[in-house]
Amino acid sequence: MSATIAEIAAQLQGYDPQALSAEGVGAFLAKLVAPVAETETVGVLDALDRVLAADLVSPLSVPPHDNSAMDGYAFDGAQLAGGSALELEVVGTALAGQAWRGTAAAGQCVKIMTGAIMPAGLDTVVPQEFTKAGADGRIVIPAGLLAAGDNRRLKGEDLMQGQPALRAGERLAPAALGLIASLGIAEVEVQRRLRVAYFSTGDEILSLGEAPREGAVYDSNRYTVHGLLRRLGCEVIDLGVIRDQPALLEAAFTDAAARADAIITSGGVSVGEADFTKAMMKKLGDVAFWKIAMRPGRPMAVGRIGRSVLFGLPGNPVAVMVTFLAFVRPALLRMMGARATETVLLKAHSAEALRKKPGRTEYQRGTVTRAADGSLQVRTTGNQGSGVLSSMVQANGLIVLHHAQGNVAAGEEVDVMMFDGAI
Ligand code: AMP
Ligand code: MG
Repeated sequence: MSATIAEIAAQLQGYDPQALSAEGVGAFLAKLVAPVAETETVGVLDALDRVLAADLVSPLSVPPHDNSAMDGYAFDGAQLAGGSALELEVVGTALAGQAWRGTAAAGQCVKIMTGAIMPAGLDTVVPQEFTKAGADGRIVIPAGLLAAGDNRRLKGEDLMQGQPALRAGERLAPAALGLIASLGIAEVEVQRRLRVAYFSTGDEILSLGEAPREGAVYDSNRYTVHGLLRRLGCEVIDLGVIRDQPALLEAAFTDAAARADAIITSGGVSVGEADFTKAMMKKLGDVAFWKIAMRPGRPMAVGRIGRSVLFGLPGNPVAVMVTFLAFVRPALLRMMGARATETVLLKAHSAEALRKKPGRTEYQRGTVTRAADGSLQVRTTGNQGSGVLSSMVQANGLIVLHHAQGNVAAGEEVDVMMFDGAI
């Protein structure tokens, strides 16, 4: 049985749901969620973005033989020891895919193509363009250009037979697919896809196709959440916009919990919300209601309904995206069984002074560009209101101003969470 909210809270030093730091949220969620157990076997082409379920042990060495890295001439590098130019007789040709089986003695060499197996006893390749023509078809290697072993790829230098080529928990990117194929492996065992159900709440939220009316806004959160989840490779279950009525909310939460590993809602978790969302979460699940020391995105509900993990995000469109990127994404990656769950931050110089109060984490929308001097520079996108979704479209990353950080001077370095790779 997984730990309850109260049990997790008791394990964390200084846990205060009314003033939780962003780091505190991460620590809590790391204890709340666990990887799903089920795996499946898929073909290598279908393994893109999936999480490897078990170490992949290499059945062969790549490359399988020592081979040439260049088009040129293979010879015994011991002859370079004298330090003078070499003149060598060409006694054969080694083609890629067609080994040369003879033996070359001192004073001899073999013409060799890139990828061809190194003939027995030869360990060095002189690239074609380094050579000069000698007498009687011989080649001349000028002094001082090469060392023994140059331009030879060693057997197993990429992957060694019997060693893990990829570790469990690897999210399979294009390079990993190529690597799997390079081992002659056609199928791999991956974690099953995570199923995530989501819905928006609020009586003022319109679905696409509904006529606009005063005081109502079209639902954008389901669309951003859908996109964010698809980028993570989750199976998505869209439960629509749920009106602020207990029976409808109960049905939506119950349906979601029956079908999904995780439930994401937006709206209805702020302080003083005159709605039934929080009450229903409390009734159906084991849920904590937090005020997070962050901007945007202060209120958030987290817990379990049935066996599903619940992420009750705030309603504001930017707050939804920021809380997703900062907290939900790493938690979902953990549930997916991925080893690396944190987004790598890069450093850029702030093009402007930024006002920031210590004691909360701020995520400002920023555009990173390369400055004239070649360094990375970041500028905020202007209006940082938590409802200004266009700022998320304009930005290419989030400037992360950490909990203890104060004002930032123009030119000072700041951390940026780039969207590329995350969304
Ligand atoms: P709430 O957290 O429910 O108080 O919502 C905060 C703000 O976000 C309100 O202005 C809502 O109208 C807006 N909002 C809530 N849900 C959505 C949604 N699904 N799409 C767009 N805006 C929303
Ligand atoms: Mg609301």
